[in-house]
Amino acid sequence: MARYLEQEHYMYRQALRKFLEAEAIPFYGQWEAEGIIPRSFWDQLGTNGFLCPWLDEKYGGLGADFGYSVILNEELERVGTGLIGVGLHSDIVVPYIAAYGTEEQKQRWLPDCIRGKSITAIAMTEPGAGSDLANISTSAIRDGEYYIVNGEKTFITNGIHSDLIVCAVKTDPKAQPGHKGISLLVIERDTSGFLRGKKLKKMGLHSQDTAELIFTDARVPVANLLGEEGMGFYYLMQQLQQERLIVAIGAIIAAEEMLQMTFDYVKQRKAFGKTISSFQNTQFKIAEMATEIKMGRAFLDALIMEHIEGKDIVTEVSMAKWRLTELAKQVATECLQLHGGYGYMEEYPIARRFRDIQVSSIYAGSNEIMKAIIAKNLGL
Ligand SMILES: Cc1cc2nc3c(=O)[nH]c(=O)nc-3n(C[C@H](O)[C@H](O)[C@H](O)COP(=O)(O)OP(=O)(O)OC[C@H]3O[C@@H](n4cnc5c(N)ncnc54)[C@H](O)[C@@H]3O)c2cc1C
Repeated sequence: MARYLEQEHYMYRQALRKFLEAEAIPFYGQWEAEGIIPRSFWDQLGTNGFLCPWLDEKYGGLGADFGYSVILNEELERVGTGLIGVGLHSDIVVPYIAAYGTEEQKQRWLPDCIRGKSITAIAMTEPGAGSDLANISTSAIRDGEYYIVNGEKTFITNGIHSDLIVCAVKTDPKAQPGHKGISLLVIERDTSGFLRGKKLKKMGLHSQDTAELIFTDARVPVANLLGEEGMGFYYLMQQLQQERLIVAIGAIIAAEEMLQMTFDYVKQRKAFGKTISSFQNTQFKIAEMATEIKMGRAFLDALIMEHIEGKDIVTEVSMAKWRLTELAKQVATECLQLHGGYGYMEEYPIARRFRDIQVSSIYAGSNEIMKAIIAKNLGL
């Protein structure tokens, strides 16, 4: 067990695993086919105390440490990467409201986030700006007690289900450099002028509802501004450490799962009168992957410890994000190969895992952007 985990964490993991075995695993294939996870599952997660366990008890949370968030994200990933939206809600988006919201905003929004009645999303990416966040063009121009929001967001996780969207907007479109004009607005489901675009068809993460969001003279109360005007970019930079850590956690779990299913497969599949596992190539591939995963896990656990201690480890988390997502993609390729033709068949879970893992090197800041951050922080 990792150094940041104690007996209570173990019990939480057991309870969560039992819950997912009953309420998620039997239905996951159906959710993948339907392209969405039902809201009733979110309700159940909330009712059972699995959403935002870290939030303060006064809002209905458990006041739990980050170790519980690690467990939540790990166990969701074991079921399937399509559940990524739950972890995004619990440990990526709601933290913005908790960190930068006023007491009134927290009282208004957080209890329903814990109960699973309010599902959240974060909307940074636009059709014309992904990696280049400072260059977003969605504008929010003040008009009395409202901001008038115009623009489009795309690739938004939980885009269809979301009730509250933490949206990066330009409150000062003329600001130079551009990032100084960015603010964060919480945009609510029934806001006039806010429409959802289509649910996007993706190569993987089929059960995750990824969508476009369209704002046409949308009227958002000034009371929904998170923190201060013009500080949005800094807030995003502060929170991205945790987001990228969570993606790295998902990647290592996905790699472990793929290795385990391949291990089981090669031990029973036969060719030339022997099991596939008896070939030296298979043994070396599995030995290599097991080694890399174990080393990755050790680095990750050290970073989780430092994150819990509140340290600024942006450089190291960027290293973990790019390296561990690349590792998981390599593991997917090797494991699919060891399955032979069956690996290419939908009824074998390695096929879905192979598709789902591809996006991990793209979202939460692409791996190229991670390397740019590392290089800059190393002094280049
Ligand atoms: C399934 C899915 C879910 C997502 N969920 C969300 C979400 O919930 N919220 C949200 O806001 N966004 C979300 N995204 C968007 C995601 O964060 C972006 O796709 C990502 O940041 C890359 O932006 P882009 O797609 O515009 O690619 P681009 O920025 O156009 O990049 C294209 C290529 O150029 C490379 N590149 C760009 N700039 C540089 C540079 N300076 N140096 C070297 N290479 C560079 C990139 O690494 C990439 O390989 C999601 C995306 C997907 C696919």
